[in-house]
Amino acid sequence: MTDTRRGLILINTGPGKGKTTAALGTALRAVGCGMKVLVLQFIKGSWHYGELDAAEALGSNFVLKQMGRGFVKIGGAQADAEDIRLVHAAWEEARAAIDSGAWDLVVLDEINYAISYGMLDPAVVAEALKNKPEMVHIILTGRNAHPLLVELADTVTEMREVKHAYQKGILAQRGIEY
Ligand code: ATP
Ligand code: MG
Repeated sequence: MTDTRRGLILINTGPGKGKTTAALGTALRAVGCGMKVLVLQFIKGSWHYGELDAAEALGSNFVLKQMGRGFVKIGGAQADAEDIRLVHAAWEEARAAIDSGAWDLVVLDEINYAISYGMLDPAVVAEALKNKPEMVHIILTGRNAHPLLVELADTVTEMREVKHAYQKGILAQRGIEY
């Protein structure tokens, strides 16, 4: 055990609910500690999530941006060129934000989906994480975290689905799902 302070790499993955909301919980905790937090939501964009307004209420120490269109074609279909462009733009902004040292915590929400859909090269992300400024914390969320990133991370949590209201035909509820 050491009490050295350094930035951690965390991954929230797995099929159960809670990956993004756990990252946002950590973000809330960090803001409460006086840290500056940037949340970049890859892929998301079409829904208005409650966290967008919550982030605004918390002021300039908690900035949250939606970087996508909110839906991508999956299941064998070739990813849409516009979605790929948006993912690359999101990634460039993420990398610049991490390297700038202006943020204590950077959340890359749903980046694992962008990688597992083949829209972003995991080796490029791994390289940037290896070279991140020492004190910056990074959280990556989304199912199917790439093994390269899992190996690199300090803390990895896999959400397991025990059950989900959706299976009973209950649609997404405001404030809980979005
Ligand atoms: P949340 O944002 O609620 O923490 P998540 O980040 O773990 O969920 P995503 O894969 O990003 O999950 O899914 C996005 C949406 O699908 C959210 O509205 C989420 O609540 C919902 N969802 C998550 N897991 C499940 C599941 N196992 N079955 C059905 N819907 C789910
Ligand atoms: Mg999520």
